[in-house]
Amino acid sequence: MTRSNKKDPPPPNILILQKDRSPGQEKPTDIPWTQALQMMNQWIKEGHEVYVKWTCLKCGSRLTAEKPNQVSILMKHDEPECGHITNVADTGIGFMLVMRNQTLESAQKYLQRYSK
Ligand SMILES: [Zn+2]
Repeated sequence: MTRSNKKDPPPPNILILQKDRSPGQEKPTDIPWTQALQMMNQWIKEGHEVYVKWTCLKCGSRLTAEKPNQVSILMKHDEPECGHITNVADTGIGFMLVMRNQTLESAQKYLQRYSK
């Protein structure tokens, strides 16, 4: 039996979506805090997993929360060299959305509701 060193692709019924930045765009587009919370609540209610993304105000790193469906106003950059706490109510947040049992088409249609 041979084993591939390549990582297996995720099962087809799991779709990971993130809209961080368009090509050529320098900074990720974050969604204002209040609006982002509403989106997040809705997605969680509908059974999706949401990982919050934000930009550390001190070092500029783009960060993704370790646990799904959790956010607080103060998000900490866990690297010991940084450790900065960013107030994401001021900066806004982005998302990585994990959807199950969706096709790319149905997921895109679903997300159109949320992009203006
Ligand atoms: Zn940092």
